[in-house]
Amino acid sequence: MQFRNFKMVDYVVYGRGSFNQLDEIIAPRRKSDFPMIFFLDHFFEGKPLASRVPLRGKDKIVFVDVTYEPKTTQVDALAAELKAAFGEVSGIIGIGGGSTLDLAKAVALMMKNPGSSADYQGWDLVQQAGVYKVGIPTLSGTGAEVSRTTVLTGPTRKLGMNSDFTPFDQIVLDPELTKDAPANQRFYTGMDCYIHCIESLEGTFLNEFSKSYGEKALELCRKVFVEKNTWDEECDDQLMMASYAGGMSIAYSQVGVAHAVSYGLSYLLGTKHGIGNCIVMNHLAEYYPAGVKEFKHMVAKNNIDIPVGICANLSEAQFDAMINVSLGMKPLWENALGPNWESIMTREKLRALYGKL
Ligand code: NAD
Ligand code: ZN
Repeated sequence: MQFRNFKMVDYVVYGRGSFNQLDEIIAPRRKSDFPMIFFLDHFFEGKPLASRVPLRGKDKIVFVDVTYEPKTTQVDALAAELKAAFGEVSGIIGIGGGSTLDLAKAVALMMKNPGSSADYQGWDLVQQAGVYKVGIPTLSGTGAEVSRTTVLTGPTRKLGMNSDFTPFDQIVLDPELTKDAPANQRFYTGMDCYIHCIESLEGTFLNEFSKSYGEKALELCRKVFVEKNTWDEECDDQLMMASYAGGMSIAYSQVGVAHAVSYGLSYLLGTKHGIGNCIVMNHLAEYYPAGVKEFKHMVAKNNIDIPVGICANLSEAQFDAMINVSLGMKPLWENALGPNWESIMTREKLRALYGKL
């Protein structure tokens, strides 16, 4: 038995208003002559948060476009621009949802690793530590703030740069930053966390470590999406900790069916992670009966629209492409269905499932 020895985030600060400590936190990591680069989710262009970024010297804010989920080409272009403009940078600070956090992690790595980020999509392919990197979430749920991966769509696949060099050096968890998130987006990203918990807790890789975090995250998700009738500050506080704990839960286990199927949608149709997981979860009663029942209750209670019929007009070749991407996620299927998963989740069965979405 080989136990996973996983690298975690080095420093964590949590609290309402903790963003104000950023200047002080990053000060010791500044190298003279090299700027800090702040990747700000483009949502914040012209918003008050942009003027609170602690710029000094040659520091720069880059508003990152997250209309589409991060691509290896986007990461390579951002890293090339920074190298051309500054040679080196002291660090990269990502402020935004999961997409911005992933861009920050990937570009920080590509400041020190040769070639294209596509060369490092996989497990433990990254050879060099990147530059100093900080993650500051403005949406709660993905767990990208704690994970050892950065999910990228590349020329041939959608796969993370999974490595011990990938986790942030520092995260700043300030729930106040999530307060303006629209209800639908907050729900989709929040459900990413809920689904992480269900997939982890119902999976065959479960152990007491994952269970402890997964149960806590699930409890917090229920507080905000089941028990509360109106969204308030406490909900933002709780969902931010749910995201963290949900991420810690899957760090020592794995996600499952919803993610494996949703990756196919995202690869072919560009469906975003949170909403894609929700579209799939709606149809997974066979695998996660209690979780899907509660999920549907939360959708109704929170008045959320989950798209249906998104695969209605696809060709067989397109279904095949999604099936290939999905079945390639072997650890997810093994966690969900056990070592004999290939005899359970056949191509025909998966074709039928995609047909329902
Ligand atoms: P997102 O980062 O894609 O952002 C969704 C939308 O919300 C964007 O339009 C963004 O501009 C906007 N937004 C962000 N913060 C806001 C705020 N405070 N108020 C209003 N709007 C705001 O959404 P997400 O669900 O957080 O992240 C999904 C991404 O995370 C995907 O790219 C997925 O692949 C990735 N992901 C990564 C991991 C990991 O471990 N690295 C895990 C899960 C998901
Ligand atoms: Zn997820």
